[in-house]
Amino acid sequence: MRYRAWFECFAGCEGKYKLTDIIYRCPKCEGLLTVVHDMEALRHRSAAAWMDIFDRRYKRTEWPYGSGIWGKKEWVCPEVENDNIVSMYEGGTNLFWADRFSKDVGLDDLWIKMCGNEHTGSFKDLGMTVLVSMVKQMRSEGIEVPAVACASTGDTSAALAAYCAAAGIPAIVFLPRNKVSSAQLIQPIANGALTLSLDTDFDGCMKLIQEVCAKNNIYLANSMNSLRIEGQKTVGMEIVQQFDWETVDWIVIPGGNLGNVSALGKGFSMMKELGIINRYPRICCAQAARANPLYESYKKNFQEFEPKKAEKTHASAIQIGNPVSVNKAIACLREFNGVVEQATEDELADACARADRTGLFTCPHTGVALAALIKLVDRGEISRRDRVVVISTANGLKFADFKIRYHEGRLEGVESKRPNLPVELPADYDAVVKAIFNRLEKAG
Ligand SMILES: *Cc1c(COP(=O)(O)O)cnc(C)c1O
Ligand SMILES: [Zn+2]
Repeated sequence: MRYRAWFECFAGCEGKYKLTDIIYRCPKCEGLLTVVHDMEALRHRSAAAWMDIFDRRYKRTEWPYGSGIWGKKEWVCPEVENDNIVSMYEGGTNLFWADRFSKDVGLDDLWIKMCGNEHTGSFKDLGMTVLVSMVKQMRSEGIEVPAVACASTGDTSAALAAYCAAAGIPAIVFLPRNKVSSAQLIQPIANGALTLSLDTDFDGCMKLIQEVCAKNNIYLANSMNSLRIEGQKTVGMEIVQQFDWETVDWIVIPGGNLGNVSALGKGFSMMKELGIINRYPRICCAQAARANPLYESYKKNFQEFEPKKAEKTHASAIQIGNPVSVNKAIACLREFNGVVEQATEDELADACARADRTGLFTCPHTGVALAALIKLVDRGEISRRDRVVVISTANGLKFADFKIRYHEGRLEGVESKRPNLPVELPADYDAVVKAIFNRLEKAG
C-alpha cells in the first residue's frame, strides 16, 4: 500500500501542495496550511493492525522505527525515504504517575507526560525531526535549501540546531536577547548554529525572520510550517498507546504559539477517524496571565481574537502575544469541548514548587499547566475520578535560574511559599545533627 500526504489550506481553499514544496501559507488566503493524509489508504489496515504495528516498533532498534515519531511514520510523514530521516530516537518519554501530587490536588488518577525528557529537553524535538528530515529529503532531490532558520523562545532553536547538526545542514536561530535561559542559549551555540541575539521580543523575531526567509531562499522552521505539527501530534497517540490504547478524560497543555495544542487535537482526531479510540478527551490550554490572548478570546466564546503585546513572564517559552496557530487552536478547542485557563506568576511558581516537592522538577510552562489544573479541579470542572494527563513541555533543568531565584525569594512578582535553602554549617557533628533534627521535627 502506498501512503501519501500533502499540504492543503487549513481554511479550506482549493489546492494541494507537495510536502517538498517550499510553502508555508495558502497562496489564496495567506492562512496556514495543514498536512492532509490519504485516509483511504490508511484505512486499508484495521485499527487493531495499526496498534499491533505501533506496539511492535515502539522503542526497539530497527531504524528508524524505534523513534516514537517514526514508529508511526505512515501516519506522520509517509513519503520521506528512510535514508533521509534525521532522528535522535525522539518520543517514547515516560508517563509519570504523579501519585502524591495527584492526591495533593484532589485527584485519583493524574499522570504527567514528560516531554522534557526528549533529546534537547523539550517537546520541540517531536516536530523538528520531521521538518529536518523533509529538508534532507528535499536536498537529496536537488531542491536548493542552503539553510534552515527559526525564531524561538529558546526550545525550538535548541531542537533545530541539534537536528541540523546531526544532518550536517546549516542552521540559523533568531532569539530575543535576554529573554531565554542560559541553558537555552548555550544549546544552539554548542551545536554550531549561527545564533542571532536580537534586541526585540519573540514576536519581533518572528516578524523579521519571515522577511529574511522569504527574500533569501532560507527554509523557515517555525510552527507555521505545518510539518512540525505532524511530529508533535504523536504525543497524543503515544499517551493513548502508553495506556494500552485507552483514551483519557482530560489533557492539560500550556500554550504560547498554539501549535502544540493544535497538534494534540490532530493526533486524537486521526485516532478517532481510524478507529483506535471512540471518544475524545477534553483539552485545557493553559496560558500565562501575562501572555494570554487566547484566554481573552475564550472568555468571549472565541467570537473575536485580538493579538496583544505579551508582558514579561517567567514562562518565557510562552511569552507570545500574536500566536501563529491561533485559528488551528480555536478549531481544536471547539472540537474537543476545550477550555482555556490562565496562571499568574505567583500561581505558576507555586504550582512548580508544589509539584517539585512530590518528586518532579518542573519547568515554568509546566507550572502554568499545573496551576490551571488546580483551578479546574477546585471549581469541579475536572472531577476526582477523571484520568488526567498534564503535558510537561520542557525539562526543569533548562530553567535552573528560575528555581534558584524562587528558593532564594528573589523571583519577581512571586511570593515564595515553599523555599528550601541549603543550610550552611561548619563541618561539625553537633551542628549537623541539630540541623537534621530541626528539620525532622518541623516535618512532624
Ligand atoms: C514551545 C513551548 C511551549 C508552547 O508551545 P506552542 O506550540 O508554542 O503553544 C510550551 N512550553 C515549552 C517549554 C515550549 O518550549
Ligand atoms: Zn486558503
